[in-house]
Amino acid sequence: MSTPVIFYPPLSQKVTELNPVISSIVGNRVELQLLTTLTCNLKCTYCSLGVGEVVGSQGKVSYTPDVLDAFIKKHLSEYEVYVTFYGGEPTLNLDFIKEIMGRYPTFRFQLQTNGTLLDSLPDNVLSNLSNILISIDGGEEITDGFRGRGIYRQIVKNAQAVRDRLAGTFTARVTWSSEETSFEELDELASTFDYVYFQFVAGEGTYTPAAMEKKKAVITQLVDKFFANKGLYSIIPIMGIVRNKVLPTRATELYHGKTQCRVSTHILNVMPDGKIFPCPDMMYVPEMLQGDVIANWLKPSPLQPHPDMPCDRCEAQPWCRGNCMKNLYLAYVKNDQRYRDNVVDPICDLVRFLGREIDRHDPLAWYARAPLDVRKTLRDCEVYEYVEIMP
Ligand code: SF4
Ligand code: SF4
Repeated sequence: MSTPVIFYPPLSQKVTELNPVISSIVGNRVELQLLTTLTCNLKCTYCSLGVGEVVGSQGKVSYTPDVLDAFIKKHLSEYEVYVTFYGGEPTLNLDFIKEIMGRYPTFRFQLQTNGTLLDSLPDNVLSNLSNILISIDGGEEITDGFRGRGIYRQIVKNAQAVRDRLAGTFTARVTWSSEETSFEELDELASTFDYVYFQFVAGEGTYTPAAMEKKKAVITQLVDKFFANKGLYSIIPIMGIVRNKVLPTRATELYHGKTQCRVSTHILNVMPDGKIFPCPDMMYVPEMLQGDVIANWLKPSPLQPHPDMPCDRCEAQPWCRGNCMKNLYLAYVKNDQRYRDNVVDPICDLVRFLGREIDRHDPLAWYARAPLDVRKTLRDCEVYEYVEIMP
């Protein structure tokens, strides 16, 4: 059973000690992840929206901007809102992106894209994006294997073409699927983009003993380079774990101690038909419905920590905080033993390994020696707000 979050919202709402309001959003910020369409111009083999046949199941947004406006006024007016345009491939509905940017000039905006249409975005959209998350799978051979021939070069070419017109940051979002993904490939992405965020794929058959050893060897090289680098080696999961180990309150402050991917506290995934879910990978699960833009209702996220999840007994809990809730829910609440054995437990093993590799380098001593600009970026990097932080 999920536990409702009780807290005291902004003073404009009348609340007494004996009569707390159950708030739908925890904290002061909310990420509005607007799925502009569920169609996509690629057919990536592992697409997470393929589960439950979500991808392609709806076209473009079917609610009007005025309906969204009424929802924002009723539920989000007390919060700092930032918007992520998501899909499908969100740039296939450019008119909607422009409309939202025009209506909410004080919001922050981010785009999650496969990068193939980036070069067609107008300057006034590019210059208004705080961050672009661009999906890529590693090097050319692996990316083209998952996404189609020529896609890697097209993405890199497009990224270079718009670089000067982009005021925000460029983050490579890597779904780490292949056991052949090398240190050199991820290192190359770190020098091409401002940041690299990688996440272990939720794919059965991926985590054989040999594949685990290969992934661990790459993790060791990445962590070694992080601590040997002169400046900040901008690999988000390593940055985030180091930050959480050095400054533990940073791991909890935006999430009230819950998962850093925000699904239990302050992210709303709005499907093109207006239905709202906390996790973009669980939009096919009826019990995960959290609200509806058209019917104008919202409740607390149903995707919450559960006593059956193993995190309280895990060495990584103080800095991992239970990512990913979807995996933990399926494996430990729904008791999908196969998924637990083949996906969830191996990923947790890799997360714990990453933490131990970082500890080998004494992160506190490293932080104490680091120049002020490195410390500041490690502490305050805005990209932490746009990704799950944990791999
Ligand atoms: S590594 Fe796994 S079990 Fe440990 S805290 Fe993270 S999600 Fe929970
Ligand atoms: S990390 Fe969070 S947002 Fe990502 S799939 Fe897991 S629960 Fe969903």
